[in-house]
Amino acid sequence: MNKGKKLYEGKAKIIYLTNDKHLVIQHFKDDATAFNNLKKSKIEGKGVLNNRISEYILSNLDQCGIKTHLIKRLNMREQLIRRAEIIPIEFIVRNIASGSLTKRLGIPEGTVLEKPLLEYCLKNDELQDPVVSKEHIYNFDWATKEEIEKIDKISLRINDILIGMFRGIGIKLVDFKIEYGNSWNKDKNENEIVLADEISPDTCRLWDTKTEKKLDKDRFRKDLGNIIEGYQEVARRLGIMPEETNVKKVNFNKSSSIRFKKK
Ligand code: C5P
Repeated sequence: MNKGKKLYEGKAKIIYLTNDKHLVIQHFKDDATAFNNLKKSKIEGKGVLNNRISEYILSNLDQCGIKTHLIKRLNMREQLIRRAEIIPIEFIVRNIASGSLTKRLGIPEGTVLEKPLLEYCLKNDELQDPVVSKEHIYNFDWATKEEIEKIDKISLRINDILIGMFRGIGIKLVDFKIEYGNSWNKDKNENEIVLADEISPDTCRLWDTKTEKKLDKDRFRKDLGNIIEGYQEVARRLGIMPEETNVKKVNFNKSSSIRFKKK
C-alpha cells in the first residue's frame, strides 16, 4: 500500500491518500486542542496511544458486528482505513452528566442519566460545534431520517458494548463522541454507513470506577496534569501495553507544560 498525498489535516489527525481510491491512511498526531482551538499543546506519545486504543476498540466493535472504517493498524501512528464521506455531525452519547451538558442545562456533574442521552452537534469550528436537533439535520440535509435512525441504533449498541468493555477494567464510560461516514462496500457494490474517526481518551470521558479520577482529555482541558499517564492507564488496563513497560502509576499533580494560545 503506497502512501500518497495529504488529503486532509485536522486538529489531531492527518488523512493521506493511497493507490487504492477506496482506502486512505489515518495518521495520529501528538497535538491536543481544546476550547475551540484556544488551548493548544503537543503531548508526546498521545498519537501512538490513541492509535493503539482506537484500533483495539474499533476491532472489538467489528467483532460485535458494528461496521467500522478500520482495515488494520499499519504502524505506531497510522491505520489503513476505508475512505468515507463524513456526515458533518458529531454524535454524542452520554451516560453521566459532565462537560457541556452541565454547562448548558445546569445538570450537576456526575448525575447518572436514567437512560443514555443522544446529542447531535454540527461539525463547524467557527460556530463552535453547536448542538442541533434532528429537525435541523433533516432540514439542512446533513443526513437523512433513515441514516439518523440507523445511526441512533448503532450508537446505542456501541454504548452498550463500550460500557461493558470499560466496566470490566474498572472504568466508567461517562460520555463519548463518534462520527460516521458513507463508505463504498466493494462486495455489495453500494455505499454503507460506517463508524469513522477514532474512539480514544481524546473522544471519551473515562473515570476510574472507584476514585472517579479522570483518565481522558479532561486532564488536558482542566489542567489536571499527567495527561499521558491517564491515557497509558487506559491502554494498560485494556491490555494493550504490556505490564512490564515502564508505566508510571497515575499521579495527579498539576502539569506546567500547557500553553494557552495568545489571542
Ligand atoms: O464537551 P462535551 O461535554 O459536549 O463532550 C462530550 C463528549 O464528546 C466528551 O467525551 C468529549 O471528549 C467528546 N467530544 C469530542 N470532540 C468534540 C466535542 C466533544 O471528542 N469536538
